[in-house]
Amino acid sequence: MKAAVLEDKGVLTYKEVPTPEPARGYLRLRVHAISICGSDIKRYVDGHRMYPLILGHECSGVIDRVGEGISESYIGKHAAIIPLVPCFECEQCQRGYYSACHSYSFIGSRQSGGFAEFVDLPERNAFILPDGLPFEYAALIEPSTVARHMLALGDFKRGQKAIVLGAGSVGLMLVQWLRILGADQIIVTDISDENLQIASKVGAHVTLNPSKVDIIKEVQKLLGDGADLTLEATGVPQVLEQALLITRPRGKVVLAGNQPLDKSFPLTFIENMMRREISLIGCFMSYSAPFPGHEWTETIAALLNGSLEMASLISHRFPLSLASDVFEKIGAHQLAHQKIILNPEVAA
Ligand SMILES: [Zn+2]
Ligand SMILES: [Zn+2]
Repeated sequence: MKAAVLEDKGVLTYKEVPTPEPARGYLRLRVHAISICGSDIKRYVDGHRMYPLILGHECSGVIDRVGEGISESYIGKHAAIIPLVPCFECEQCQRGYYSACHSYSFIGSRQSGGFAEFVDLPERNAFILPDGLPFEYAALIEPSTVARHMLALGDFKRGQKAIVLGAGSVGLMLVQWLRILGADQIIVTDISDENLQIASKVGAHVTLNPSKVDIIKEVQKLLGDGADLTLEATGVPQVLEQALLITRPRGKVVLAGNQPLDKSFPLTFIENMMRREISLIGCFMSYSAPFPGHEWTETIAALLNGSLEMASLISHRFPLSLASDVFEKIGAHQLAHQKIILNPEVAA
């Protein structure tokens, strides 16, 4: 089969590789749509722990083959990849905290992912879909589950006022989940007006561009003491620092943006957090018990009833064979984008 293989830092090659043959307990997905995640870009730009590797975990397709012990009735079913492969046995898995599993694998970062014609996955990692759902929307289920998980961790309640920092793909999913779950006020910040326009389209009440206005002053005008819940999806240290100052006393801040590991923080941050008695909550992936979790079942329900909108989030579509070019452009910041869908079936 053909696949886009990460061979080294910054080296992604579209080439012939062995087609996976599903082992016992596994099934094989013929990939129809795969979306590029910020984490795929990070692995390409900054390098990864193992080479060669087929990246990609936001993926959907049709099951075309099953291994021993798996019912043939799966063949022909549409499915999305559930990328986390927990052990289901360790202390954290027993608790249902699958993303904290002591020995997990992850499709597209620790084992072969979906930038390929076929991908092999354990039975429990196939999220079975209704046939009529467009594959490119199904590929975006995983990023939606991350946003839904953030709101669960932040104990979001109907009628609350929320601020979303960053209108990238997770940010835009957050806006939609806040709308679906009944937020009273949804404020979104981003330095790109284009991103903010999409945020308005999918449900933001107010959008603020920090390169043009003073966010702290604007939030004060709108919300007084600040938001009940602030959702950090930028990974920018200064933005995180500001997050405390726009959150009300006893409010919550949920973190999903990956921060640069070589940067540090003034301890005024802790001072501000203590004085306002703010809860700072980490988020890693999107799982809860029973696996994969309500994040997944709620996403599919919202997609089917039309409340979760995926079309506005897709900015580009390319054949998978152009993956090297696409990553090179993204790495060089020459391709402003939202979600990019790659399709293994379309010829370049
Ligand atoms: Zn992702
Ligand atoms: Zn485990």
